[in-house]
Amino acid sequence: MRLILLGPPGAGKGTQAQRLTATHGLVQLSTGDMLRAAVKAGTATGLKAKAVMDRGELVSDEIVVGIIAERIDQPDCRKGFILDGFPRTTKQAEALDKMLAERKLKLDAVIEMKVNDDVLVERITGRFTCAKCGTGYHDTFKQPKTPGVCDVCGSKEFTRRADDKAETVVSRLKAYHQQTAPLLPYYEGRGILRQVDGMAEIDEVTQQIEAVLATL
Ligand code: ADP
Ligand code: ADP
Ligand code: ZN
Repeated sequence: MRLILLGPPGAGKGTQAQRLTATHGLVQLSTGDMLRAAVKAGTATGLKAKAVMDRGELVSDEIVVGIIAERIDQPDCRKGFILDGFPRTTKQAEALDKMLAERKLKLDAVIEMKVNDDVLVERITGRFTCAKCGTGYHDTFKQPKTPGVCDVCGSKEFTRRADDKAETVVSRLKAYHQQTAPLLPYYEGRGILRQVDGMAEIDEVTQQIEAVLATL
């Protein structure tokens, strides 16, 4: 199965992708995670991307398309994958179509997670992540079961993203509405766009996604 989770920053794409990874054995391909890893490793790509990400703008299509093209040929992606945070522009969507066509693969569904802008600032500024295994949490909506200890791996170290500040969120939302929202009609025209209510509670969103997957 090959899916895209599409929605604004903070919509819950990463949270739901992590769950689908666990339940369906699909690989999560998050360009944001890959770019942050490149920044941390200090690679040439990371150096180019860092300032752009700190401003809340989009990294060049060339860079992210290159990253994804390399990744989808790795053996773990053969069973299927969930794209989280890619594509984000029409150019990226076209590049993805071409990549998949060349490999005789198709997309099964693009799942739009609809969330109102006004809740996104709270979602993003309250977000934190286990430094060891990457599990996502939230100050209000998803605390670890034992405070300060990761549910999944037991680590006591957590990180917050440099771009998860209220000021940066404004630019990121603008980038979403201007550059990424046009992908909704793009995929609707191909008949593969499905919607879930991203405002619902985390478990309920998962159920809605499962209901979509059951129809595929
Ligand atoms: P995205 O990957 O779309 O940017 P995340 O999955 O990282 O979004 O979610 C953003 C933050 O909101 C995280 O801290 C997450 O725990 C929390 N969150 C995710 N889904 C929901 C939801 N349905 N209701 C409340 N909080 C949520
Ligand atoms: P969120 O879902 O919270 O917006 P991501 O982790 O997906 O966060 O992305 C963080 C940042 O990484 C983006 O603001 C952007 O600078 C960069 N980025 C991630 N994916 C892409 C992409 N497909 N195209 C361009 N820039 C990207
Ligand atoms: Zn952990």
